[in-house]
Amino acid sequence: MLKVNNLQVYYGGIHALKGVSIEVHKGEIVTIIGSNGAGKSTLLNTISGFLKYKDGEVTYLNSKLPLNPSKVVKLGISHVPEGRLIFANLSVLDNLLMGAYLRKDKANIKEDLENTYTLFPRLKEREKQIAGTLSGGEQQMLAIGRGLMSSPELILLDEPSLGLAPLLVKTVFDIITDIRKMGKTLLLVEQNAYKALSIADRAYVLEQGKITIEGSAKAIAENPKIRDAYLGSKK
Ligand code: ATP
Repeated sequence: MLKVNNLQVYYGGIHALKGVSIEVHKGEIVTIIGSNGAGKSTLLNTISGFLKYKDGEVTYLNSKLPLNPSKVVKLGISHVPEGRLIFANLSVLDNLLMGAYLRKDKANIKEDLENTYTLFPRLKEREKQIAGTLSGGEQQMLAIGRGLMSSPELILLDEPSLGLAPLLVKTVFDIITDIRKMGKTLLLVEQNAYKALSIADRAYVLEQGKITIEGSAKAIAENPKIRDAYLGSKK
């Protein structure tokens, strides 16, 4: 579904991605794990068209990416960014509808809104609340819900568990599993390697802009090097 080949990305003189290659197949949850500054957000931002790459290739179905971000959304890719970036002054409902802004199939939006509310009953309860007044966990649910409202096939999720209490972290990972059951494909970037590997099919380890290890999530979780570097605390 998505193929990234030998991607090279620079911020001025900083070489952030040094020949990254990954693949995501339909129906999978694929996770990229790595420490701070490894290049995880850079990879997602490049796929979704916010950053340009110097060399390499990104293809989604039969299209070469990046186009501009709105064209990437129209192709069926939704990006839920790190830090959520919800519209703080808009209501929960308006935030969700903003996610559907580029859709041509307006008739199906209501049904997707109902599906989103089924997945996140809390958002239904808070439909009229100003988004900036939601709790951190509720804002994360809203960001994911908004991502679903563009009716994507592939969802890029950047650090969905960041800053959440342990109980909410579990809820968010359960929801990611439910989204896959809805037939969606997910590319998940996480520092919480233990949780990410527990729900993913395959994983890549990104270190200082390079993929150093790849394989099934199970094999990576059992890899002694990964256990030492990323799974020590099992939180
Ligand atoms: P984190 O988990 O901390 O968010 P990350 O793996 O997502 O980290 P990136 O945000 O992709 O890492 O950053 C990769 C590298 O690129 C880092 O060294 C970072 O300092 C650098 N970088 C990111 N954005 C910019 C920018 N706008 N200008 C210059 N350097 C940047």
